[in-house]
Amino acid sequence: MSEAKQFRDEERLDLPSASKMARLVACPGSHALEQTLPPEAFQADSQQEEWAEKGTRIHRAKETGNTLELDEEEAEIYRQGVAYEEQIVQKWMRDKNLDDCEEGPREMRVWLHDPLNFPELLGSVQLDAHYYNKERGCVLSVDWKSGFDPNLPPSPSSWQLRFGAVALKREEYTDWMKECRVAHCKAQQKHTVNDYCDYAEADLEMSWQAMRLHLWESTQPDAQRHPGQHCTFCPCKPYCLEAGGYSLLPSVAAKEKDWELQVAQMQPKDLVRIWSVSTITEKIIEAVKDRLKAMPDEDLAAIGLERGKGRSLDPIVDVPGAYSALLKEFTEESVLKCMKLGKTELAKLAAESKGKSKEDAGKWVSSYLDKFIERKTSEAPLRRIKA
Ligand code: SF4
Repeated sequence: MSEAKQFRDEERLDLPSASKMARLVACPGSHALEQTLPPEAFQADSQQEEWAEKGTRIHRAKETGNTLELDEEEAEIYRQGVAYEEQIVQKWMRDKNLDDCEEGPREMRVWLHDPLNFPELLGSVQLDAHYYNKERGCVLSVDWKSGFDPNLPPSPSSWQLRFGAVALKREEYTDWMKECRVAHCKAQQKHTVNDYCDYAEADLEMSWQAMRLHLWESTQPDAQRHPGQHCTFCPCKPYCLEAGGYSLLPSVAAKEKDWELQVAQMQPKDLVRIWSVSTITEKIIEAVKDRLKAMPDEDLAAIGLERGKGRSLDPIVDVPGAYSALLKEFTEESVLKCMKLGKTELAKLAAESKGKSKEDAGKWVSSYLDKFIERKTSEAPLRRIKA
């Protein structure tokens, strides 16, 4: 007897969901990497847990109409959301000239099947609220956002909303649905009634084809990972080489100040990979600096740079003169304590006056001054073990 498969995410059967669709489009390889993550990768911090619980309570109240478990703030968000949703519905009915409509099941999960491999599933979406007029073939899908999300894309760019519209057309209202309006109901923001997008029948078909392509791409063994701003909310981030490399780009590091944390969380083999390219990276950075420094001031200004004030060096070039002057003020011993002998300069002196090669002169200085030298080595550099 075969054992039942253990799912990490029982509700979504470990398949792509609408809320992850935008990430799959931007980074097809993220789905496969996500399946390999340890459980701790999905642990939210207490703040995130609190927000998630708030959202769950508000959505549950919306589903059941029972507001008893809401606190004062949540109840206010819920009331605003209900009022905004009503405005969204009214506007949709006006725009489409509808006399009436029916409300579909709330918080309904719709599964998208693979038509080439039925009944295999491709993914799912949970629809907060939707309305329809069957005779006219019109559907309205409203997605509630109970918190502030500065990264929320507008409705026409939302893969989450697109997924919902396509799933309704393909799986629920196949026979009669001709068009779908998708809308965000941002319960904490005003003017939410204008964040919507209309999908005609042809748009729904093209969106379905686009989704198929991206979902298929995400299941390929060589699905690529493309880092970007979308990494911010990806659970793979601490385990992903591409995100690590991206986070070390100067422009990103300047925006996200958690580079030490990123490095601390990387896998050892990824650290080796980054270390192994460090020499070339440093050379590139030096070459970039040299090129920039060689530019005329006006060219630098055109790209937002200017020459800063150089650190003052002011070396003492006449050492014998300075030495004699200082002896008038201090004892010889205290002046000598401030002086340093350069081994390179001494080797040069030995080479010239004793007729030695550069190498022999260096050895002579090291041996002749042995008792005056403190022998120590610098920090050991890393290098590859030879096979
Ligand atoms: S962290 Fe970024 S690059 Fe890595 S899998 Fe996630 S989205 Fe892709």
